[in-house]
Amino acid sequence: MRIGILAYQGGIDEHRYMITEACNELSIQCDVVNVVKRSDVNGIDALIIPGGESTTILKLMKKFNIVEVLKERIENGLPVMGTCAGAILLAKKVKDLKTGRVMSGTLEVLDALAIRNYYGRQRESFEVDLNIPVIGDKPFRAVFIRAPAIVEVGQGVDVLARYGESYVLVKQSEILASTFHPELSGDARLHRYFIEFVKR
Ligand code: GLN
Repeated sequence: MRIGILAYQGGIDEHRYMITEACNELSIQCDVVNVVKRSDVNGIDALIIPGGESTTILKLMKKFNIVEVLKERIENGLPVMGTCAGAILLAKKVKDLKTGRVMSGTLEVLDALAIRNYYGRQRESFEVDLNIPVIGDKPFRAVFIRAPAIVEVGQGVDVLARYGESYVLVKQSEILASTFHPELSGDARLHRYFIEFVKR
């Protein structure tokens, strides 16, 4: 199968490495391709949207005129994994902590409210062991970098992990969103979980 990575910014190589690991572990033949232009979207079976700066990624998505085509494919069932800024881009509503304003999101496919830079300045980056039952008992070392939080979800959204009051890993049918960076932990279990539902 062919897995696309939205390749404007962020941990593109790290995601590629993790997907390759996961596919090897599952003995699945995977091609991992960069998605930059509209035509790159044709023929992918799943998409990863990495972290970075959501405003910058959005600018590039607009420049390459890729927002509509991605939204349409995701609405038609393209499995997608969004991490950190990727989760912000998937959310229906996004709140800016500084201004307090809630705005509609970019792809607007994940029924959730994400708050950007939720953990504040002094804790811009941190790591915690998360309990993620769907990938097993062993805790997952999660890296949060100027992370958002998901604070509200709609009925069709399953919360797969929490940190304090906030949701940090959620799934809505074929959409998986984490507010942390699973590509940075050297643990491919979350990518494997994603590939497992992509192949179904
Ligand atoms: N703070 C970033 C944003 O709002 C997200 C950070 C990240 O992806 N590591 O887009």
